[in-house]
Amino acid sequence: MRLIENWFSERYSDNVQLSFRVRDQLLSVKTDYQRIDLFDTYDFGKLLAIDGTVQLTEYDEYIYHEMITMMPFFHSVRKPETALIIGGGDGGAARSLLGLGVRDIVNVEIDSQVVEISKKYFPELAASFSDRRCRLIIGDGIDYVRKSEQKFDLIIIDSTDPEGPAVSLFSREFYEMCAGRLSESGIVVAQSGSPFYQRETFRMAYDGMVHAFPHVKVYTAFIPTYPSGFWSFTMGSNSAMNPVKDMVRGKYFNQEIAEGAFKLPQFMLDDVSTLKGK
Ligand code: SAM
Repeated sequence: MRLIENWFSERYSDNVQLSFRVRDQLLSVKTDYQRIDLFDTYDFGKLLAIDGTVQLTEYDEYIYHEMITMMPFFHSVRKPETALIIGGGDGGAARSLLGLGVRDIVNVEIDSQVVEISKKYFPELAASFSDRRCRLIIGDGIDYVRKSEQKFDLIIIDSTDPEGPAVSLFSREFYEMCAGRLSESGIVVAQSGSPFYQRETFRMAYDGMVHAFPHVKVYTAFIPTYPSGFWSFTMGSNSAMNPVKDMVRGKYFNQEIAEGAFKLPQFMLDDVSTLKGK
């Protein structure tokens, strides 16, 4: 009989939460930007939470990091060589892009403590921080894009949800700034939240993208530790995005997913057509 049980719960509403039984809480720190918690969970390994929301777990982070990098990579008409990551403080997106052969990555993370925690507790994700192909900048992604002169083949907006420092990363203005930082066939991709529990986040991201880009595509993925397990990503480009033939497979990503992930439920199609028509 278990005497004491400790749980970390992410609350999706006043009446719904997802709970993880934990062996131990490894840290809790309030930074200038957010609260960061780290847990050792029984079923998902180490779990990083920011302001009470799951950012990544050891056992399922590969899904999110493959889907936010491999989908735009393999929809680029020209093999991407350069990438900008906004919010890549855990290192997962950069690790995935390096694995795809991207040779020049700028990773802009506003909170240095996220980087330090990732280096200590998620070394397999943080390897990119010591890779000469990847330049880490501690700063606000909005300021970086506003001031940068560089053009990128990929821009990955790997941010927290639209609260606190990430609010403006979901805005039309930010996506328009990103559009100006793209190479000719470049693609921007943003995590656009759970279409079920965070429908306003999805609508905000999609609305901003359709105002900033002539070509916008939405896709979804199954991420068990994210709200409802049903997650969305939104891509925008100044030119058409077509799947290439010779895709590599990941642990989650494959040719089937590269095609099937764009099939959306009707309630999302209704939002898409309403917002497209605006
Ligand atoms: N996979 C997670 C998700 O979908 O919510 C994102 C993980 S990543 C840890 C999110 C990062 O975005 C955090 O480290 C946070 O500090 C960073 N971030 C938030 N706003 C930012 C901004 N304006 N500029 C740069 N980084 C930002």
